[in-house]
Amino acid sequence: MAYCKKCGAQIDGDATYCPSCGANQGESFTGMTFNNDVGLDRASGKINIGQMIWAIINLVSCCQILGIVSIIMVVLAKDAPSAQEETKKVRCAMICNIIGTVGGIIVTVLSAVYSAVILEYLGSSGVVFS
Ligand SMILES: [Zn+2]
Repeated sequence: MAYCKKCGAQIDGDATYCPSCGANQGESFTGMTFNNDVGLDRASGKINIGQMIWAIINLVSCCQILGIVSIIMVVLAKDAPSAQEETKKVRCAMICNIIGTVGGIIVTVLSAVYSAVILEYLGSSGVVFS
């Protein structure tokens, strides 16, 4: 019996990856991958810069809540135990970013149209521009 180097869970001595957290148990076992192994890829452990920037843009524009959710997801993705988990969280951040941006554009366009209609009305009624 051995213990996971990352989370300390008890694992098989010849296990390549920890079944509990998915951490790679080191280079000493390279070349001994088994087909029945869970085979979780390691997470990159890096911040997804693109999604982070996008989330911040959403945060400072009109979609604060979605921006915050995206930032949390990007940060969680950085600490994800496996690449699968990381991908899932980055995707979640991306969905929030898309909704935030599309929603922001719709709100901007609607308010622009609304203002234009009001200006048009005021202009034709002679309140302004007369
Ligand atoms: Zn572990």
